Amino acid sequence: MTSDLINIAYLVTAVTFMLALKLMNGPKTARKGNILAAVGMGLALIATFFLPEGNHSILQNEAGEFKSINVLLLGLAFVLGSIGGAWSARKVQMTAMPQMVALFNGLGGGAVALVALVEYPHLFGTMTNETMPLGVRLTTTVLSLVIGCISFAGSMIAFAKLQELMTGRPITWPGQKIINLGLFIGTIVVIALLLANATAQPPMFYALLGLSLILGVTLVLPIGGADMPVVISLLNSFTGCAAGLAGFVLGNTALLIGGGLVGASGLILTLEMCKAMNRPLSNVIFGAFGAVDTTASSSGGPQGTVRSYSVEDAAIIFASANNVVIVPGYGMAVAQAQHVVKELAAKLMEKGIDVKYAIHPVAGRMPGHMNVLLAEADVDYDQLYDLEEINPMFPETDVALVIGANDVVNPAARYDKASPIYGMPILDVDKAKTVIVSKRSMNPGFAGIENELFFEPNTIMVFGNAKQTIAKLSAAVDSI
Ligand code: NDP
Repeated sequence: MTSDLINIAYLVTAVTFMLALKLMNGPKTARKGNILAAVGMGLALIATFFLPEGNHSILQNEAGEFKSINVLLLGLAFVLGSIGGAWSARKVQMTAMPQMVALFNGLGGGAVALVALVEYPHLFGTMTNETMPLGVRLTTTVLSLVIGCISFAGSMIAFAKLQELMTGRPITWPGQKIINLGLFIGTIVVIALLLANATAQPPMFYALLGLSLILGVTLVLPIGGADMPVVISLLNSFTGCAAGLAGFVLGNTALLIGGGLVGASGLILTLEMCKAMNRPLSNVIFGAFGAVDTTASSSGGPQGTVRSYSVEDAAIIFASANNVVIVPGYGMAVAQAQHVVKELAAKLMEKGIDVKYAIHPVAGRMPGHMNVLLAEADVDYDQLYDLEEINPMFPETDVALVIGANDVVNPAARYDKASPIYGMPILDVDKAKTVIVSKRSMNPGFAGIENELFFEPNTIMVFGNAKQTIAKLSAAVDSI
């Protein structure tokens, strides 16, 4: 394959990535988008095998002679990577998706940092590729090392937190912000020293490697709880930027454009999630949100009586309902109750009851979690309503059926400044005429806090595993 053909293949890859992102905009086309992106990535990988023997410094030996690509090693990486990726994608539980994203994202960042490490000594060698000035190559290499390392180390901490290998809560220590600021300034100073003197300075370069890794760890340790998905998305954006820089260094168009797309879309997703939680990004990164606050407790927890109903008693409530809003949450994912939920909805609709689904942007454990589960159960997309659309409808809703959701329906988020979820927009289910909550116990959700909704006079708790509860409810609805 000539280099022209390779460039065309990379260009086609870039186009497939862009089209894939467009298709991923909606749940109806998201699956096609994913497949298209995978095809594009496959094409880019295959094209890489045909790279000419040396059009870049990374393929030069000490004497400046070009080495041939080690096809065997490349093939091994291709096969192992593909098997590993396909295997983990098939095996992963939907609920463990965030940590898988964190892990893969971290590996991406680490790969970029490795490219920078390998590339650095070659920058000052006998280069035949003079198309890019040394200063530009040095800057991009140094930046891709820093961003790649921060992304790698930060993502590994995020993975450990979400996988519960360590506490998921924010870890803070005295002077933590000052130390982080010091590390940040130190990193900037070393970058400046490396760039100011465009000669090989390996000790300085390795010092930058260490500083960036430490910064990645110390930046993510104080973040926890509900902010983890935002951090993962931000780190994803970092990895994209680092990959884009690596693409620049390596003169690889597909990497450059793909990295740019990941960087931009990751940042947009980060900002959208911050908007969904009604918090500025700076507060997510520096706020140690979700840390146990021992000083602030507004009311000592919700008070009142919990009304626990049997499934049969709860089913009777549907007899007089004209409309029902189903609110799925993490518990529906754990119980894999989406199919029985769809069955229940079908039975309610047969009885002339209008059924809608309310989708909170951070319900579950990953962006779009509920959409994915409901799509799997073939729920009609037109029945899905997002937070802004559905909230004004709750006062007119006869029954809000909450299935394994907790934090996203906690009214304390609206007014309790001491609550760790204060300010996060919630689904206003408490405004519905009757709220039926399906969960196993009074245990809290992800944020670790009690929910006053369960004590409200219009709330009925139906305790038990969501799949069994909803299946029984579905059977009981037949007889009303
Ligand atoms: P929550 O984590 O707040 O609550 C889930 C509830 O489901 C629990 O209270 C649990 O109660 C119940 N549950 C668990 N298993 C079952 C089961 N088998 N059957 C029935 N109920 C069950 O979930 P939400 O969806 O309301 O909120 C998501 C939270 O996760 C938010 O705080 C969000 O910020 C955070 N988060 C979101 C991410 C995202 O991107 N979507 C990523 C990471 C975190 P019980 O044990 O009593 O059954």
